Amino acid sequence: MSVVDEVKQRLDIADVVSDYVALKKSGRNFRALCPFHTEKTPSFFVFPERQSWHCFGSCSTGGDIFSFVMKKEGIDFGQALRLLAERAGVTLVAKEKERTEERQFERLYQANEAAAQYYHHLLLNAKAAEIARSHLEKRGISQEAIDSFQLGFSLDSWDALGQHLLSRGYKEEELVAAGLVREKEGGKGYDLFRNRLMFPIRNEQGRVIGFGARALDDSTPKYINSPQTAIFDKSGTLYGIDLARGAIREQGLAIIVEGYMDVIVAHQYGMANVVASMGTSLTQKQVGLIKRLTPNLALALDADAAGDAATLRGLEIARQAFSARTDVKDRTWMRGPSSLKGNLKVILMPQGKDPDEVIRESVESWRSLVEGASPLMDYLFKAVTSKLDLSKEEDRAAAAEQLLPLISEIDDGVERELYLRKLAALVGVDEKTLAGKAARLRPTEREKQRGAVALTPAQPLRHHLEEYCLCLLLQHPELKEEGMELLPEYFEGTESRELFLAWRSRSDVDMLRHSLDVNLHHHLDSLLNRALPPASAKELETALVDCRRRLEEQRLRRLKALEEVLISEAESQGDQEEVQALLQKALAPSAQLRNLFLTGKPERKGAQQ
Ligand SMILES: [Zn+2]
Repeated sequence: MSVVDEVKQRLDIADVVSDYVALKKSGRNFRALCPFHTEKTPSFFVFPERQSWHCFGSCSTGGDIFSFVMKKEGIDFGQALRLLAERAGVTLVAKEKERTEERQFERLYQANEAAAQYYHHLLLNAKAAEIARSHLEKRGISQEAIDSFQLGFSLDSWDALGQHLLSRGYKEEELVAAGLVREKEGGKGYDLFRNRLMFPIRNEQGRVIGFGARALDDSTPKYINSPQTAIFDKSGTLYGIDLARGAIREQGLAIIVEGYMDVIVAHQYGMANVVASMGTSLTQKQVGLIKRLTPNLALALDADAAGDAATLRGLEIARQAFSARTDVKDRTWMRGPSSLKGNLKVILMPQGKDPDEVIRESVESWRSLVEGASPLMDYLFKAVTSKLDLSKEEDRAAAAEQLLPLISEIDDGVERELYLRKLAALVGVDEKTLAGKAARLRPTEREKQRGAVALTPAQPLRHHLEEYCLCLLLQHPELKEEGMELLPEYFEGTESRELFLAWRSRSDVDMLRHSLDVNLHHHLDSLLNRALPPASAKELETALVDCRRRLEEQRLRRLKALEEVLISEAESQGDQEEVQALLQKALAPSAQLRNLFLTGKPERKGAQQ
């Protein structure tokens, strides 16, 4: 539970409001002269059951306990939260700790960025870096690529980087936490990277989070990485993602290769939709990064590694993550584009060649390899059978045992049948028998749902439409103009409304975060990290327009419900005049609702009151 929820749960809105306004009981609700405008007959109401307030007079606004205190005291959300939290006896200490933690993360980013600049400067200028420069020249890396990937060189020294960063005001423990300096028991720390070609690894936002480093002599291992730190998790990162995301979205295809050089050369030759898994077998987090950008993923695989246990494991993770739908849990989450299923292919490299070699030799042959990528299932057939001798009975059984579960999970009936036939021919078993077995292996709808839900982080069910809408706005800055048409009143959740208000004045995520109260960072991050199904620019726009229509509908229904409460109260007290006056007002949201259904468009801002 967030602190906002906790405060709301502990405080009663009527209690808090009555500190400022003389409330009079009116049925189950309270009534008062509006504290926000001058009036003679009270039209300001507090609804304890909904924990909300509303002025039916000329303000025509309402909200929750937070918006009331903010408005009445003229303070911002953070101040209101502190005030109400104190009153509710909710402690914000843990959140203050979070703020400190965030400041520490920022130091780690900065230290890594300073190191990247230092290494880059050395590569370009240091005499000792001659070996690195000639290595890059031999591999045909252009100056432009060196600059855009900010390649660098670490000196053959135990403390060159450490000294440099200490002189820039960093503390030794910060450098250790950033993974740049390694702690020595009882002694001074030493530089982790020495005499190596340096590849800064950046996150999606382009911040340096760690390094890959290649030995330039015969030191082993040839490649080392930054250790896992608070900001660096190798298994959740793809090298080059910051530079590739635009191209991936535009081309509707992401290609995952293995090495740093493969990415750099691909980008240099104009193929910017390429990223690297950095040698590990593909993880779910990595696939998740891609899934947000496109439903189409191709994996470039080494011919020698075909059928390797690690390769197959990576493919299995990619297959599962890619075939899961994102909307199973909540059908209203997104219509249309969510039904797009992942399309996973394998690009098999020629024997003994890396993508960077293929590309440098001939861009055309790389292109035709990409075009000729085989569907994952075809590749798996080859990979599984390449290790078997199908003239032997037990090997045929092994092939069926490995391939049948995979085939049974294909959702498309026609496609499933096609592969069943292929397998039947391969292992010499009757197709019907295999189909029966496959049917028993097929996951039930319930199991499928369970699987899909596990992929997406837990989402609070309430206000899902508001949160979905914010996800769209936060993850797709190009929707800014359309998003400005939304009203703050659409957001009933306190945290979402605050986020929306902040987003309206600055949509850049980093600046947005700085402007937000620290207690809202968690909400911001959860929305930023929520996986949206890939969608084209047009589909996104349609999704937002649809969202706006439904939010307007919700707003009007809320309003109507409040007025109905009032009407039934006035009726029960036999106050006919009052009922008439309220009915007059209640007609407004009804008329607007009718209009919304007829035109499918909310009325313009300002026109609704
Ligand atoms: Zn008012």
